[in-house]
Formats: sequence, C-alpha cells, structure tokens
Amino acid sequence: MKTQNSAVLFAKACQVIPGGVNSPVRACKSVGCDPLFVAKAQGCTITDADGNEFIDFVGSWGPMILGHGHPEVVKAIHEAVPGGTSFGAPTALEVELAELVCDSVPSIEKVRFVSSGTEATMSAVRLARGYTGRKMIVKFDGCYHGHADSFLVKAGSGVITLGIPGSPGVPEDIVKNTLSIPYNNIEILEKTLRDASLDIACVIIEPVAGNMGVIVPEMAFLRKLRELTAELGIVLIFDEVITGFRLALGGAQERFGILPDLTCLGKIIGGGLPVGAYGGKKEIMDMVAPDGPVYQAGTLSGNPLAMAAGLAMLKVVRRPGFYAELEEKSSWFAEKLAAIGAAALVPTVLNRIGSMMTCFFTDAPVTDFNSAMQANAQRYAQHFRNMLASGIWLAPSQFEAAFVSAAHDRAHLQKALDATEASLATLAAA
Ligand SMILES: *Cc1c(COP(=O)(O)O)cnc(C)c1O
Repeated sequence: MKTQNSAVLFAKACQVIPGGVNSPVRACKSVGCDPLFVAKAQGCTITDADGNEFIDFVGSWGPMILGHGHPEVVKAIHEAVPGGTSFGAPTALEVELAELVCDSVPSIEKVRFVSSGTEATMSAVRLARGYTGRKMIVKFDGCYHGHADSFLVKAGSGVITLGIPGSPGVPEDIVKNTLSIPYNNIEILEKTLRDASLDIACVIIEPVAGNMGVIVPEMAFLRKLRELTAELGIVLIFDEVITGFRLALGGAQERFGILPDLTCLGKIIGGGLPVGAYGGKKEIMDMVAPDGPVYQAGTLSGNPLAMAAGLAMLKVVRRPGFYAELEEKSSWFAEKLAAIGAAALVPTVLNRIGSMMTCFFTDAPVTDFNSAMQANAQRYAQHFRNMLASGIWLAPSQFEAAFVSAAHDRAHLQKALDATEASLATLAAA
C-alpha cells in the first residue's frame, strides 16, 4: 500500500497542528501507525490521499448512517448555500428540524440546537444543575460525554486509548463535583444515589456505551437508574450522541422503552455537519434563556447549512423500514463475525446492538470499564493494521464502535468478514 502522500501531509501537519490532528484518536498512535489522510468518501468507500480505497466502518465516528455523500443530503446542502451560510437570526429550517426531533425522540418536548456533542452535554448538565439547584454530577466509568472539564474523569474514547487518567488543565475544584461509578452495577448505583450528603443534580449516561467499545446495559440496571432518579428528584440525562437516530428513530430510549428527563444528541443529527442538541421535558427546557435564567448561547447554533443537512438526513431515516433493514443487515454481519471469532484461535468477544458493535480481544464477557480494559489492545493494533492492508477501515482503537451504514451492502460486509478471518488466522500464528 502506497502511503507517500499521507506521510508528507502528516509531516507538514505535525509542524502546525498538535500531533498533526484535530482530534487525538485520529493520530493512530495506539495502533502503531501514522494516520492516512482522507481525500474523499462516497457511500461506504473512503479514499485516501494516495488513492487507496477502503470500506469504512468508522462513519466519521457515528454520523454517517446513510454512508458518505448521500444524494439527498448533498442536494439539501447545495440548495441551502446560495441563500446564505449564517445569519445569527432564526430560520424556518430550525423550526422544521426541531419539530422532527420532538416528533422522533419520545422524551423530547422542546429542543435547543448547538454545534457539537460536547456543547450539548455541557449545556444539559448546566441546565440540570440550574433546575435542581444541586451541584454533583454522577457519570459512569468509561463513558465519554465530550471534552468539557466536568466529564474528564475516568472518561472513555481517546482518553482511554491514550491512557490519560484525567487531564491536566482541569481544576481539582471542578472534578470534585463529578462522581464516576461502574457501569451496570446496581448496588453501587443505589448506594451512591441514595447518599443525601452528595447533593446530586443529575446522572448522565450513554444508554448504550459506545466509547469504551460497545457495551449494552443490563435492562434491570437501566430501569433501576430511571426509578431511583425519579424517586430522588435527580435529573436523568441520556447522552444519545451516538445512539440517537442510530438504534432506532427515537434512539436507545425508544428501543428500551426507558425515558430520560433530558437527552443529548449529536453526530447523526447534523447529517455530517457540526450539530448537537439537547432537549427534554418542557418544564426543564423552559429554564433555558431567554425563557429562564440558565444561560446558553451560540453564534453558529442552528446554522442553516447544518440544519438543511440534518433535515435531509432525518427525512431519509424516518422512512418506513429504514431501521428494520439496517438491523437485518447488521445482525447478519454480526452473526458471521461472531462465528469467525468463535472459530479462531485467539479469543474474541463480540458486543453488538443494532448497527453498532465492537469485537474485543478478550475471553471474558465485557460489561463495564474494567472488563473492557482486559482486552488485548496490542492484538487489536495488529488486527487494525491487517484490516487496513486488506482495505477495511476500522477505528484506530480497541475501545470504539464499528458502524454499519445504509450504504454497506452484502458484498462490502462479506469482504470485511473475509478480511477478519484472514487477520485472526495471522494473529493466532503470531
Ligand atoms: C462523540 C460523543 C460526544 C461528543 O461529541 P462531539 O461532537 O465530539 O463534541 C459526546 N457524547 C458521546 C456519547 C459521544 O459519542
């Protein structure tokens, strides 16, 4: 595989951008190679700066549920451009997208658009604190909620991948108000939430963890979380930045039938442009400025191009049968993948729900941060490089999800299965 052009770009990038990348996981450090620079992508195919083509299972880390360059999304963006790209004033597109979001996500009655998932979670927590008049945030080990100060405590995604315990630059005074407890552990959950001395404003959770690799919660755990927070007047925030419009039109909350008080959205909602959102019960959302005193703002919030892309995206996923088809394809793929894993000499565990999955290089069930950490990241690194050489683009970390999109067909998926089988055989021999 030729990588000359990517290598030149990376060397230049390193002179002017920290680590040569604008988000740390892209650097590929944990898988022992340099990043490939992307030239373009179409459908589920991504092409690098040297003309190599790959079948993409990263999907921009979640947003590209329709694949790249979906004609309806591209058309919507093209049509929006001549009308102006930012006004700092309300538009009809925002209203239309907000109506679609409220109609799609069961617990959302009102929604505010922002420009990233990080902004959504940060704002939802401020709102929960403003609403309850309390201070403490409870999160779960290995969950990632963006890079705001309060969340960089036992966080997932790049924070795990790079092995950073927290982050310098985050004051002790801030993280002392964040409590991180184990995912899927009912006993610790109940003990923590019932401790009145803690003054807990909210619990924020990925209703399916996607940032320590995919971990599906036990339903008893999630139900208990809902019951306890309701009983104790704690605001329950579902961070559905990955799972929203991914696991169902209404996200994990629709799929599981468990409704939070506030929901954070991102990724898919922008159709590949920068959009985030937070929303929920009217009673809580009415606390947001200018209706209420909780301040939150954004110059580019509700940006017309981003709203146009998001609207086009939602219109496609709302068509009847969209999620059923994605589910059918993903479960076919995952079953084959699990069978290949089971037949291989290296132990693997496949966690999957809907079109998101992680193949962990471990022999014990992965149900929380500690069990995820048992996975052999070195073996994953080798697997990642094997797959790349076979034309399959995976996340450059063991602790991330692989996504199937509407653009993957059986032939693409079969190619990935064949590559996986070959890779696992070489790992066993190593
Ligand atoms: C990606 C992600 C975020 C952060 O979104 P950004 O747009 O990267 O700021 C927050 N929460 C979850 C669950 C995510 O996966």
